[in-house]
Amino acid sequence: MGIELNHITKRYGSFTALTDIGLSIPTGELVALLGPSGSGKTTLLRVIAGLEPADEGSVLVDGDNIAAKSPRERRVGFVFQHYALFRHMTVFENVAFGLRVRPRGQRPSKDEIRERVMRLLTLVQLENLARRYPSQLSGGQRQRVALARALAVEPSVLLLDEPFGALDARVRKELRRWLRRLHDEIQLTSVFVTHDQEEALEVADRIVVVNEGKIEQVGTPEEVYRDPASAFVYQFLGNVNLFHARIEDGRPVLGPSSGENNSGPEAEPPLAQVFVRSHSLDVHTHRQGNEMFGARVEHISPAGPFIKLELKATWGDYIEVAIPRERYQELGLSKNSDVFLAPKEMQVFADNYVI
Ligand code: ADP
Ligand code: MG
Repeated sequence: MGIELNHITKRYGSFTALTDIGLSIPTGELVALLGPSGSGKTTLLRVIAGLEPADEGSVLVDGDNIAAKSPRERRVGFVFQHYALFRHMTVFENVAFGLRVRPRGQRPSKDEIRERVMRLLTLVQLENLARRYPSQLSGGQRQRVALARALAVEPSVLLLDEPFGALDARVRKELRRWLRRLHDEIQLTSVFVTHDQEEALEVADRIVVVNEGKIEQVGTPEEVYRDPASAFVYQFLGNVNLFHARIEDGRPVLGPSSGENNSGPEAEPPLAQVFVRSHSLDVHTHRQGNEMFGARVEHISPAGPFIKLELKATWGDYIEVAIPRERYQELGLSKNSDVFLAPKEMQVFADNYVI
């Protein structure tokens, strides 16, 4: 059954943080809420958790209205960006906490608690660190403890608010793969908040792209990447260059207008926004065909298998291009080289119309 959001609107005073959010998350799915800072991700997660009442609409978790339940009955696990571990408690005690504070009738026995906590610590690969205190752990280890603690009360829904946001890039990568495996292993419904598109694309079954309190698009990573529903989604989901373009004979022409066929404002060909990902531009040293445009190499970042070039188009816009190392060597480029660029793939948005 999973999670059902119907027409959720949330206001803070006169500010509307969420507008008419509708979303259905089937049991077992891992969904990423992806959007820029301030777009309403945390608010939405708190509404799902029942921590924040919505002004309009309803949240059903496994078919029950979450607002009508007491926090204890909700069976929702929450992991925050900043490790909210109890500093004066060991790893073991932190994970056991949610079980120990249960009312006597529902509290497992001491042996059961021990057994469950150790099983969880094994799951998050921290069984040897049960006696340590949070200050004796790395950031990644602390977040794994936070996760074990959230799982201890056997939630049916796990909500994670930028859980790896404070960690360095390598640890983040490791933990997100590990979260994916964990999610599959224990059959949860999970909602994962992130502002990192790569993280969302790698981890999620489906991505919900949020902007200014509204859903822009819901789809699999493949769908939102390959077939973005709006200019916002496209721009947010990759290293992209934005070009202003004219539509002439149904085709986009990049760069500022040439002026030739504009005799007045009425004759202005329609303007479009054209997005081209940095790895979707071919670089050539000679012009081949009309589709190409000229640019000058301003900066070269030669680290890694892809070389990043910062170029300046003839009309003055900066453009970022990523090309394979072999291609870079073949071209023999250096700073101030003049080149020609050909988009291999582009996404055109004209008056909200996708070509
Ligand atoms: P995100 O998690 O995507 O960064 P939030 O959900 O935290 O965004 O915030 C969405 C918007 O709602 C922001 O503009 C934020 O300032 C506002 N907001 C969040 N919580 C409150 C609050 N308690 N009171 C007033 N405004 C809030
Ligand atoms: Mg947030």
